Amino acid sequence: MINTSLVKEKENLVLDFLFFWNCPITAGCLKSELNFKHSTLNSILKRLEKQELLTWEKYKEIKLTEKGRESAMHVSNHHFIIERFLKDSLNCSEELAHNEALHLAGAFSCELIEEICKKLKISHNDSHGNFCDIRKYFTD
Ligand SMILES: [Zn+2]
Ligand SMILES: [Zn+2]
Repeated sequence: MINTSLVKEKENLVLDFLFFWNCPITAGCLKSELNFKHSTLNSILKRLEKQELLTWEKYKEIKLTEKGRESAMHVSNHHFIIERFLKDSLNCSEELAHNEALHLAGAFSCELIEEICKKLKISHNDSHGNFCDIRKYFTD
């Protein structure tokens, strides 16, 4: 279980992306994939490292820890569930639903996500085989 209130939006984006990417990645590569400024990415990575969600040594690859993988999957599930809700219940376009869901993933409490899950008859904890690429329509 992640404490969503402690995790900032951009940290969620990075976790979401790392879950999708599913293998170690260098900071340089991550920076260009996500189009983040060097300083922004550095401080996000430092905060995630401090929370023991990933390991990162200078000039080496970034790896999610076991705890980090769980958090990343959790954020990714919120993203998927919100996106599906916006499409199914509100008939939002694919692009709008994805973009909104990206940014709302960490803002929605697990309690609210549970309510959506009940309505959609899906589970909060199952990744549903979903690996949504956050870069799809993403611009910083
Ligand atoms: Zn998506
Ligand atoms: Zn949750």
